[in-house]
Amino acid sequence: MKRILVTGGAGFIGSHLCEKLVKEGNDVVCLDNFFTGSKENIRHLLSYNNFELVRHDITKEYYIEVDQIYNLACPASPPHYQYNPIKTVKTSVLGIINMLGLAKRCKARILQASTSEVYGNPYVHPQKETYWGNVNPIGIRSCYDEGKRVAETLMFDYHRQNNVDIRVIRIFNTYGPNMNKEDGRVVSNFIVQALKNEDITIYGDGSQTRSFCYVSDLVSGMVKMMNNENDFTGPVNLGNPSETTILEFAKYIIELTNSNSKIIFMPLPSDDPLQRKPDISLAKEKLDWEPQVHVREGLLKTIEYFEKII
Ligand code: NAD
Ligand code: UDP
Repeated sequence: MKRILVTGGAGFIGSHLCEKLVKEGNDVVCLDNFFTGSKENIRHLLSYNNFELVRHDITKEYYIEVDQIYNLACPASPPHYQYNPIKTVKTSVLGIINMLGLAKRCKARILQASTSEVYGNPYVHPQKETYWGNVNPIGIRSCYDEGKRVAETLMFDYHRQNNVDIRVIRIFNTYGPNMNKEDGRVVSNFIVQALKNEDITIYGDGSQTRSFCYVSDLVSGMVKMMNNENDFTGPVNLGNPSETTILEFAKYIIELTNSNSKIIFMPLPSDDPLQRKPDISLAKEKLDWEPQVHVREGLLKTIEYFEKII
């Protein structure tokens, strides 16, 4: 049994992670400022003795004694992280400095939830961890992309300079129950629009690609990465390599929901990456991990969730 801090624990991925860690018998502290997360996501865990909820903002210092820290606190959807871009940078940068300081003081192992966005609009496809990326430093996505890149830099500097025990994962587009229905990401947007028979909003011509990973697969990879005892720090890609265009994806959601929705095309936001697919050979080799949930199965579970909440 370990004492584990999960920042951003009331968010989409954080809530699934907290559930897994609590059910494995760990003592879990979920810290969140509820910017995009919600108590609903973790309400079912509040009755467990080994679960605690703390309202706190990681841009401020936080003191606790723990063995492990999963740092997930950061808005992840473009509309949310662009709502207050300066705050997004502070959350990534001041937040990781505070969490690394905590890890250093109590000798905890810390895992940073980094992102495929560190590759920007990639020239290398699929993306391998050795690729340094193609990121615009001054665009509307930069608050998120560059914040996450600096957070990776700080992880490795604290590791080299202060011997902090680190793990870095780069998460590719993940979906599943507990996504915020209003967070503007493509999976939640398309499913909610399809269920309400509203127009499906494709940005651009829909030829851009993404590769979608079901949340239980991602969370099992995160926990494997945290607990690997081989000093494998990463960064390691975690995602599902099954790639689809956004247009194909919209049609698939319409089919799975039996919807009457029509597809409409809207302007593509600037710096929207044209293609994205993880190379997961490193995760397979070092963690013996690869996704198990087929996209159809994952989407049906997600549709069921949204049917319940809308
Ligand atoms: P989410 O928005 O649902 O969760 C983020 C959580 O962090 C929310 O509960 C939010 O309230 C909390 N938070 C935000 N700022 C905070 C702050 N300053 N202090 C404390 N809490 C704060 O997003 P998610 O999809 O669950 O993403 C979780 C993490 O994974 C993020 O760090 C994100 O960058 C990363 N990630 C997610 C994806 C994805 O596809 N979901 C892809 C790449 C990386
Ligand atoms: N997208 C879309 N319609 C929507 C929401 C998103 O066409 O209603 C597109 C978006 O432009 C991007 C892709 O879907 O090309 C994935 O967007 P999302 O915001 O989910 O994540 P990203 O991978 O861009 O961070």
